[in-house]
Amino acid sequence: MAIIIHKYGGTSMGSVERIQNVAKRVAKWMRAGHQVVVVPSAMSGETNRLLDLAKEIHPTPNPRELDQIASTGEQVSSGLLALALHREGIDAVSYAGWQVTIHTDSAFTKARIMGIEDEKIRADLNLGKAVVITGFQGVDPNGNITTLGRGGSDTSAVAVAAALKAEECLIYTDVDGVYTTDPRVCEDARRLDKITFEEMLEMASLGSKVLQIRSVEFAGKYQVKTRVLSSLTDPLIALEQEMKSGTLITFEEDSTMEAAVISGIAFARDEAKITVLSVPDRPGIAYQILGPIADANIDVDMIIQNQSVDGKTDFTFTVPRADYQKAFDLLKNSVQAHIGAKDILGDPKVSKVSVVGVGMRSHVGVASKMFRTLSEEGINILMISTSEIKISVVVDEKYMELAVRALHKSFELDQR
Ligand code: ADP
Ligand code: ASP
Ligand code: MG
Repeated sequence: MAIIIHKYGGTSMGSVERIQNVAKRVAKWMRAGHQVVVVPSAMSGETNRLLDLAKEIHPTPNPRELDQIASTGEQVSSGLLALALHREGIDAVSYAGWQVTIHTDSAFTKARIMGIEDEKIRADLNLGKAVVITGFQGVDPNGNITTLGRGGSDTSAVAVAAALKAEECLIYTDVDGVYTTDPRVCEDARRLDKITFEEMLEMASLGSKVLQIRSVEFAGKYQVKTRVLSSLTDPLIALEQEMKSGTLITFEEDSTMEAAVISGIAFARDEAKITVLSVPDRPGIAYQILGPIADANIDVDMIIQNQSVDGKTDFTFTVPRADYQKAFDLLKNSVQAHIGAKDILGDPKVSKVSVVGVGMRSHVGVASKMFRTLSEEGINILMISTSEIKISVVVDEKYMELAVRALHKSFELDQR
């Protein structure tokens, strides 16, 4: 008898019928003798609806209140799922994060899980119950409800799996695994049977929203066996077949894995770019520019500082589009007064496209092939950054999908 964690995303929980199917699937696992903890997301569209309501009431809503509001979607879906399980004849109980307890820090809207108490869950499992735990939320040291950032239910599930030392964490979603790129953007995308943890980490951090990056970090840190698979198959599909389906995240490359140089293409559609023009090139300037941005809890991604000419340089960086205006306004105020720069320019409509693969370590020519492909499509590269296993470019948003498809083809990702 093993402890198994199931996580169901918004689409998978999107209607009464889908919730009933989730209950059927969970019941099947329990009848096969497993102890199951289920972590559902809010029903599809619900989190957006709640956040939109908040913004209708207040243009810059207080983050604590936003979490108070946004967390309710998961509370509803958890309760509904417990009821659906009852209808399946399964003893089930649902808990909100604060009832478990899932402890987080106080970074509202992007809180980090600090620890999970497992006594209550274990006691219920030992009584033969299915335990349903809200995804996406926790409670801070002051008793405030927090949320873990968009897509955060993945992280809740993997963290619960780590806390319970579960045998496996199954992330059920609306695609049947991790693909070479988002199958909604490139119809030739191919499902991978396995992907290394390192590659998954890069894919997630570079924008593939199939898994939230923090869930992959947790999986790596606690060696949680994690599989991404479809919730849209027949819920009564044979367990043996289901257990082998989808994409397994592996911790080591093994001989059965494809010997590909590039294993996937990730993209982040909603990026923005800010350039500070003609900054005096002296120690401390990067800190002066980026310090206030970091203090405002805005993630800076790519950073480029040009060679200085006559003691002046241009400094460019990217931020998530949602934080663009805030970052721009913060800098606009300080650019001339404190930093001594000439001006600040912004482009809120850029996207990032990245090729990822551990095979890049032992192969040369990936960058030149990427740049050639983009040039053949007439796509201008605005920024470039590389690491050992990825190359990213920033391009105009309108060329993003074209870039993804062209790269998918030129790296022959459709062909194995
Ligand atoms: P859930 O609600 O189940 O958490 P998400 O919408 O968060 O689902 O994530 C699943 C979606 O991720 C898919 O529908 C797909 O469009 C997108 N996606 C992006 N990149 C990939 C990829 N490489 N492989 C599979 N799906 C991807
Ligand atoms: N419901 C949350 C969101 O929409 C969390 C999740 O789906 O993982 O972001
Ligand atoms: Mg998700």
